[in-house]
Amino acid sequence: MEVENSVIVNFAEISKPNKMTGNKTFTMIKPNAVEKGFTGAILAKINEGGFRIVAMKKMKLTREQAEAFYEIHKERPFFAGLVDFMSSGPIIAAILEKNNAVEDYRKLIGATNPDEAERGTVRNLFGTNVQMNAVHGSDSDENAEIEGNFFFSKLERF
Ligand code: UDP
Ligand code: MG
Repeated sequence: MEVENSVIVNFAEISKPNKMTGNKTFTMIKPNAVEKGFTGAILAKINEGGFRIVAMKKMKLTREQAEAFYEIHKERPFFAGLVDFMSSGPIIAAILEKNNAVEDYRKLIGATNPDEAERGTVRNLFGTNVQMNAVHGSDSDENAEIEGNFFFSKLERF
């Protein structure tokens, strides 16, 4: 009866309403990484990781735009420093596509603090410190959509 049981368990698993199964995520290459000339190497890691670039642009965020993007962190002690940093120089914003995009991209970039990020991850390789950690990656399908919409219109997606 083991086989039948496992079928039931798997069906329950795929029926979970909150499972992240979306195929899009949003990323930014942060000012420290752009400034240091790591854009090409980071895009190569994204490519090798099996992500397709749906939309991409280089721009400089105003302080107001950085505050709006990181609105969910506004009560955190690192908020002011983060906003200063994210509006200090140009960034690369992109929408990426892959099965299980949000989770797989978080694996590719590693932990928030580059010192704690696994060897070979983007933040481990290109991050400077916990604030200047080279890249942003969405933390849920819902936020991936909100963040992608913050930067890109339908006309900019392919
Ligand atoms: N951050 C920081 N100090 C901290 C934690 C986070 O400056 O102690 C910055 C860092 O740039 C991070 C961003 O705030 O990427 C958003 O924090 P979050 O906890 O969402 O980390 P992430 O999702 O980027 O791994
Ligand atoms: Mg986050």
